[in-house]
Amino acid sequence: MGKKIIILGAGFGGLCISNILRKNLDHTNDIIVIDKKDSFMMGLTNLWILDGRRRLENSKIPLTNLKSKGITFIQDEIIKIDTKSKIVKTLLHVDQSYDFLVIALGAEMSTNMIPGFNLHNNFNLYDGESIPSLRKQILSLEKGKIAIVIMGFPYKCPPAPYESALIIDQIIRNFDRRNQIDIDVYFPSILPLPVVGEQTNSKLIFMLKKQNVNLFPNYSLKEVHHYNLEFHNGQKKEYDILAGIPFHFPPDVIKKSGLIEPKGNWISVNKFTLETRFKDVFAIGDVTEIKINDIIAVPKAGIFAEGQARSVASQILHKISKCSQEYPILEFDGKGFCFMETGNGKAGFIDTNFYNSDGAITILKEPSTTYYKKKINFEKHRIKEWL
Ligand SMILES: Cc1cc2nc3c(=O)[nH]c(=O)nc-3n(C[C@H](O)[C@H](O)[C@H](O)COP(=O)(O)OP(=O)(O)OC[C@H]3O[C@@H](n4cnc5c(N)ncnc54)[C@H](O)[C@@H]3O)c2cc1C
Repeated sequence: MGKKIIILGAGFGGLCISNILRKNLDHTNDIIVIDKKDSFMMGLTNLWILDGRRRLENSKIPLTNLKSKGITFIQDEIIKIDTKSKIVKTLLHVDQSYDFLVIALGAEMSTNMIPGFNLHNNFNLYDGESIPSLRKQILSLEKGKIAIVIMGFPYKCPPAPYESALIIDQIIRNFDRRNQIDIDVYFPSILPLPVVGEQTNSKLIFMLKKQNVNLFPNYSLKEVHHYNLEFHNGQKKEYDILAGIPFHFPPDVIKKSGLIEPKGNWISVNKFTLETRFKDVFAIGDVTEIKINDIIAVPKAGIFAEGQARSVASQILHKISKCSQEYPILEFDGKGFCFMETGNGKAGFIDTNFYNSDGAITILKEPSTTYYKKKINFEKHRIKEWL
């Protein structure tokens, strides 16, 4: 008898694990992916839409493509996860029972918690749908201030707000308006990237200052008034265009289904195996929290969702396979990388190891066109592999 493996969420983690399982399991085993969306768009393409190299319409890949890979895709909203009866309930379809469940539901985002943000035609920098109009506004701004505001921690892809600042810098330089337009980045911490070490932060600050990007540490946004930002430290700052990085929180269904421990904010998992406290239920990616110490956790980034997906896939294959030696268990190793865009067709390379025994390590390598090309291939390769 085959097994039924249900994967909740067709984002970075869900697509990676469903494809690995499908390639390694015969068709007596069902692999079912459920997502409320009908398409996948990699977060990093937001930056390419911002800099005009990519259009939104060309960035979304239909999830029905999973069918051609032998993976069942159900488009529906998950409304309940019952770990006792091993059943997942969705809004429109019949309840689904499972042998193994992988929760890869990511993080929800909202700008609603900041009074005034949604009233004044401001932009959510993490919502692909709003990027084309943000770009349009930037192109039409002749002078003034562009504010990028990080509302709170944690948020996904920590370097992305700074990449956006450098891309916007490049856009307005190309129009010869850089002297008339300020780029101001506000963040509620001392360092721009609290999750990485001081050396990487120094390099990043140097890069940003070199391009005249103004940094405002310890600025936590309280309220947005008409072209005016009010911060918890009492400061008020003017802006002409506001791009916010919204608050992140787990999807409602996770909170309602008792998957978050009383004192937690996200699903807690075993840091090596991604097992939850429920049998045969794993959680991967942004929906989890893996604390490294009192201050930092493994960042919310696709590359970690993917590493965790590989680990969980190996464990499911190990359990299901008749010849378990064929599938050794891979533990998640806390390693990851990303290409940090700096504008002008260049990207730096950030290499990290959060489980290093002497403390987390992060290295930022100099921007180059080679890393930028690697970033393009990063997306291309995964889309081809997964969809
Ligand atoms: C601007 C930007 C740039 C980025 N750049 C990078 C980068 O360079 N490298 C990198 O590694 N990461 C990057 N990221 C981060 C990356 O996109 C996320 O960390 C990654 O997508 C997390 O994967 P996931 O599988 O955990 O969740 P997601 O990819 O967010 O997938 C979660 C899925 O669950 C679905 N879902 C949620 N709730 C429900 C429900 N109740 N019912 C049905 N479906 C539901 C959602 O529709 C979604 O499709 C970037 C993100 C942004 C915004």
